[in-house]
Amino acid sequence: MFVALAAQARGLRVALIEPRADLPNNLAISGGLLPVAGSALQRAAGVSDSPEAWLADLRQFAPGMVNEQIAEAVALALPAACDFLQAQCAAPLRFLPDMVAPGHGQRRFHSVQPASGLALHQWLRQAVRSAPGISWLEASAEVERSGVGFELSSPQGLFADLRADQLVLAGGGFGANTAMVAQYIPGMGGALHNGSATNDGSTIALGLRWGAQLWGMDGYQGQGHTNPGGVTRLGMGIPSLGGILVNREGRRFVAEDIGPSALAPQVLAQSGGIALELFDQAIEDQLGNHSAYQQARQAGCVMSAQTLPELAALAGIDPAVLQHTLDEVAACAQGQADRLGRRSFARVLGAPWRASWVTGALSHTQGGLLTDAHGAVLHESGQRLPGVFSAGGCAAGLSGRGADGYLPGNGLAQAFGLGWRVAQALC
Ligand SMILES: Cc1cc2nc3c(=O)[nH]c(=O)nc-3n(C[C@H](O)[C@H](O)[C@H](O)COP(=O)(O)OP(=O)(O)OC[C@H]3O[C@@H](n4cnc5c(N)ncnc54)[C@H](O)[C@@H]3O)c2cc1C
Repeated sequence: MFVALAAQARGLRVALIEPRADLPNNLAISGGLLPVAGSALQRAAGVSDSPEAWLADLRQFAPGMVNEQIAEAVALALPAACDFLQAQCAAPLRFLPDMVAPGHGQRRFHSVQPASGLALHQWLRQAVRSAPGISWLEASAEVERSGVGFELSSPQGLFADLRADQLVLAGGGFGANTAMVAQYIPGMGGALHNGSATNDGSTIALGLRWGAQLWGMDGYQGQGHTNPGGVTRLGMGIPSLGGILVNREGRRFVAEDIGPSALAPQVLAQSGGIALELFDQAIEDQLGNHSAYQQARQAGCVMSAQTLPELAALAGIDPAVLQHTLDEVAACAQGQADRLGRRSFARVLGAPWRASWVTGALSHTQGGLLTDAHGAVLHESGQRLPGVFSAGGCAAGLSGRGADGYLPGNGLAQAFGLGWRVAQALC
């Protein structure tokens, strides 16, 4: 949808084919948190940042795992993409001054307010459907390459045959395709998937049919703050604000600030595949703008207690062990080194308490069609596949092998940043 908007703003005519408009896609499910270093909104908030600083954070977070074909181009494109949405399209984008995230050296997240992927999705869909240069086709399509262009037809006869000079594959990743997950990410085969059912790998398959090259297929965004069942999640902000995770025995097992993605397999490795995320009311008071947390709270997934023994009883954890864990954490917050290697604890936690059971889930896949810096899909030979572009979950992501290299916000950063590059490259 973003590529369509940016392309039509350049005077191009676009047909947007959406076969699953009835289902929420990953954007609609997401937190809608878009990292942009150097936007006009960020500058106006007095934050000094740059695409180079974001790139340095990415390389430090995922050493040796960065998709250098696109990383710099995406970093440089994001401010322009964000400014286009806000200034030219009047999108209700805001800079989120209170949003901190593991791996990011600066506050650089943007979203609608309160932050919500659903609201961003609704705004985009409305903007696309009312744009004069975009034909919105709610149908699936069969696509054939023909000479220098593409022939598109509707198996259900829902639109007349179309001819396009260029094709942008933007159908999302393969998190909902159990066979592909088992093939490329065997460690997460059968794991909870809290992403969209529309991410069935169908547009990756289309590129593959034409000999496209794949990159990073074992990379994924895990989500270690997912409530069991997968309907709600706490969001990624709690560890940065001082929260911790304990297992069923009441003991910490991980440096909680490694990021929500790398956390997922660590949580799954605990007894029962679950952990208790433990924080306090002072942290909750800072999450008013975080729609994911608010939904979890409203769904009854967050426990409240005035005292630690009360909380331990609610969670079924030995209160003495929990008290010992919190004594250790308080010492770390006051400067003692953490045995698990966590660097910052933000503050000493205190009553009233909050806690929520979480598990690890596969949110979305990072591997996909390898593109160059303009989003042009590359053939196995290394040459461009003529006329074929890609962005979002269908295209190779920014970084990562397994869950570890996913820097928070990489998903939308690539979708919007590479999407901007694609829209500028189309002719
Ligand atoms: C729980 C969760 C939380 C997340 N939170 C964040 C976050 O806060 N920040 C962040 O940066 N990222 C986040 N992400 C990742 C982010 O949502 C994705 O990276 C992003 O939505 C990818 O965009 P996309 O357009 O490729 O995919 P989608 O948003 O899934 O859209 C793909 C679209 O393609 C359509 N489609 C499917 N098959 C075809 C086909 N064959 N032909 C045509 N169309 C097709 C689908 O119906 C769908 O509408 C999160 C993901 C999840 C699951």
